[in-house]
Amino acid sequence: MARSVLVTGGNRGIGLSIARELAAAGDAVAVTYRSGEPPEGLFGVKCDVTSSEDVDNAFSKVEAEHGPVEVVVANAGITKDTLLPLMKEETFTDVIDTNLTGAYRVAKRACRGMLRMRRGRLVLISSVVAMSGSAGQTNYAASKAGMIGFARSLARELGSRGITVNVVAPGFVETDMTAALGAEQQQAIYKTIPLGRPASAAEIARVVKFLASDDAAYITGAVIPVDGGLGMGH
Ligand code: NDP
Repeated sequence: MARSVLVTGGNRGIGLSIARELAAAGDAVAVTYRSGEPPEGLFGVKCDVTSSEDVDNAFSKVEAEHGPVEVVVANAGITKDTLLPLMKEETFTDVIDTNLTGAYRVAKRACRGMLRMRRGRLVLISSVVAMSGSAGQTNYAASKAGMIGFARSLARELGSRGITVNVVAPGFVETDMTAALGAEQQQAIYKTIPLGRPASAAEIARVVKFLASDDAAYITGAVIPVDGGLGMGH
């Protein structure tokens, strides 16, 4: 039977690519979307990850459509970049609330069904900047580093129940998020990447597919960099 999969922020960018990759492999994939329309061919549920109620409703709808959710990808995320002296408190807390507390809300709701099934795969999308830091991104880097401590603690809590929790740390990926940077800034960043180019969203998605597969059954609490060498394995 097809596994029930939920990808948050799966209506575009990396999330959509993950959803398409897993659907192509035969999973029953649902995505959350916050604005716009759900992507064609995938079951979409409207959900803002800053709301526990939204997250709960989204899981309930997916469970009714595809059965208990076995694979969850916490991908929804935002940036609000500013240097710290200029950063308003809500610019800091908004990013934490979406990226880190959002992952907490999603993982907590996901555990309920996974503990009952005694199996499950949680994959959290962090970032290379969690380890390297990034000027202008204190809020974002703190949220992404927080996801790693969160995932590793949860991996220890859930390991005995056959549930794995892993983190993917992408580098520079071609999506709307990075398109916001100008061409000049993009070229400057490429020069710092050993592979000399950005990742496609599909290159991130294929690693997530692996972590969700049987081949990754003995991997938990891991942080997998997919960054063209930018973080040199950290
Ligand atoms: P995009 O900006 O292209 O897409 C972000 C996705 O997250 C959208 O689907 C968006 O929904 C959703 N989202 C944002 N806020 C919320 C919210 N409050 N509730 C529900 N959904 C929300 O980003 P990317 O695809 O580039 O990034 C995906 C993930 O990968 C993020 O966590 C990001 O931090 C991470 N990442 C990206 C990198 C990159 O270079 N692009 C590098 C490293 C990590 P909506 O369409 O409604 O806005």
